[in-house]
Amino acid sequence: MNIHFVGTGGAFDYDFGNAAALVEFQGQHILVDCGPSIYSELCRTGYAALVDGILITHLHGDHVGSLFTLILHLNRRLTPARKAVILCPSAAFRDHLKEFLAFSLLDPLKYVDFISLQNTPWIGSIDTTNRHECGLSSFAYYFTDGDELIYFSGDIASADVCAAFLETRCEAKITVFHDVHYERVPTHVYYHDLAQQLAGRDVYGYHVDPRRMPPESAIPLVAEHPEFLLRSRNS
Ligand SMILES: [Zn+2]
Repeated sequence: MNIHFVGTGGAFDYDFGNAAALVEFQGQHILVDCGPSIYSELCRTGYAALVDGILITHLHGDHVGSLFTLILHLNRRLTPARKAVILCPSAAFRDHLKEFLAFSLLDPLKYVDFISLQNTPWIGSIDTTNRHECGLSSFAYYFTDGDELIYFSGDIASADVCAAFLETRCEAKITVFHDVHYERVPTHVYYHDLAQQLAGRDVYGYHVDPRRMPPESAIPLVAEHPEFLLRSRNS
């Protein structure tokens, strides 16, 4: 199992792309989020045709801005063409996604198979609704392979959800990818709080411009770790 970020920035960090990751396990490629920069980056790196399943953390534009383009790519640009697969953490969120996609695709069921995440035993979800923004459905996801666990926070205002979840796990190798912010805002985790709440954990921050990192920050960033960045398949 491995994870490579397609982009590591927030909504306005265009130099780093929108935060999204491709998780690979047993030859399957699962894309987590698909903001505006993600479709073009997947094409540039040669991965667009390889996306087997899509997970969405929440419906903010910087996480779904090119989702309809990727869906149409799979349906219209591939030979043989195939429907996109969206893995849904709940029936309510599935309906939410359908409603959202109906604005661009009219009948999303023509282009997308919405499949319950319960059918994919190596991926789990944590409902973080109201914890990023009040009234907004949101989810964190985790991926397991034997003694290894990868945690992907999505956008959330506090790392206590992650800390409490990890208390219940016994995998030997746990890697956490968490959103982080360098100012106190109600929607993202402040870097000091993140370092405190996940002290002792292997944590990497994302959804931020690394050039804004205060020198005293103890949270390493995905953007500065090339081993976690998606490289072109041909390089
Ligand atoms: Zn958001």
